[in-house]
Amino acid sequence: MSVKYSNKINKVRTFALSLVFVGFGVMYIGLFFRETAWLMGLFMILGMLSVGLSTVVYFWIGMLSTKTVQVICPNCEKPTKLLGRVDACMHCKEPLTLDKNLEGKEFDERYNSKKYREPSQ
Ligand SMILES: [Zn+2]
Repeated sequence: MSVKYSNKINKVRTFALSLVFVGFGVMYIGLFFRETAWLMGLFMILGMLSVGLSTVVYFWIGMLSTKTVQVICPNCEKPTKLLGRVDACMHCKEPLTLDKNLEGKEFDERYNSKKYREPSQ
């Protein structure tokens, strides 16, 4: 398989973490505009919004985590959390499924989608 799949919870965590860095970066850029108060203020507000949004995303992933199923990965034997019908192991990225019908089939994130269609290619 050429495409790398990653665990959804890890993906969202990475996104939230990057929002924090973007937020601080934007606030830092704001410091270069110290002479222009409104421009500096604008960057500060944008930065704070980004950091605030990451808090929301962290909160959301916390809520999502309660809906996940914890399983022991058959490949690396570590506990991992699954979200949706198919997800990848947090540690070794082994594709895992909760649906017996999908066992043995090629991993496809489209199985999570309700409007799943046959692959076109
Ligand atoms: Zn694993």
